[in-house]
Amino acid sequence: MIENLLDILFPKVCLNCGKYGENYLCSSCFDKMDLRFKIFPISKKSYNFLIYLGKYKEEIRKRLLEFKFYNKAYINEYFLEFLIKDKNICDFLNKFDIIIPVPMHKDKKLRRGYNQTEIFAKNLSKKLNVGYEDDVLIKFKENKTQSLLLPNERTKNVKDVFRIKNSFKLKNKNIILVDDIFTTGATVNVCSSLLKKSGASEIIILVIAKSH
Ligand SMILES: [Zn+2]
Repeated sequence: MIENLLDILFPKVCLNCGKYGENYLCSSCFDKMDLRFKIFPISKKSYNFLIYLGKYKEEIRKRLLEFKFYNKAYINEYFLEFLIKDKNICDFLNKFDIIIPVPMHKDKKLRRGYNQTEIFAKNLSKKLNVGYEDDVLIKFKENKTQSLLLPNERTKNVKDVFRIKNSFKLKNKNIILVDDIFTTGATVNVCSSLLKKSGASEIIILVIAKSH
């Protein structure tokens, strides 16, 4: 109800073509763009699949930067449109039990005002009707920003900064672990290992962009 009212007062505009009233990505732009979430099987990791929309460049990079740093949290809806307009990916994701966002340390979240990954993951859970848990995977220690480090420093940087709480929620659950960008995979590696050790069954990683 409130959502409908907001749509009337503030009609959504397609970020791509400027068309009013449908969504942040209209159907004709979706049909024209060749961006789609793709599923890649992964072996020898604690997760089984990596899903991403595209490489971290051009359109995706521009939108992600706005989403992360310019207080434009609504851009999560733009990225989600690619997902919910795609029946195959929705059917695949609907088989999972819970969505968990890669957390941000509380001090950093306070400084930025929001964790873009949480916003995206929470809205994804709403659209797919899959459960959402943000109190099982906790970042208890602030570390350096991964993107500022050399690849070989990144694994060490994410060691001992996450922990699990309420592990009963994870027992035998199939999990979608969500992050914004996949670079070396060090972060999601550490997180998915922790989730596995705490009883999670299958884990897949869903990110918006892959850096290379
Ligand atoms: Zn459009």
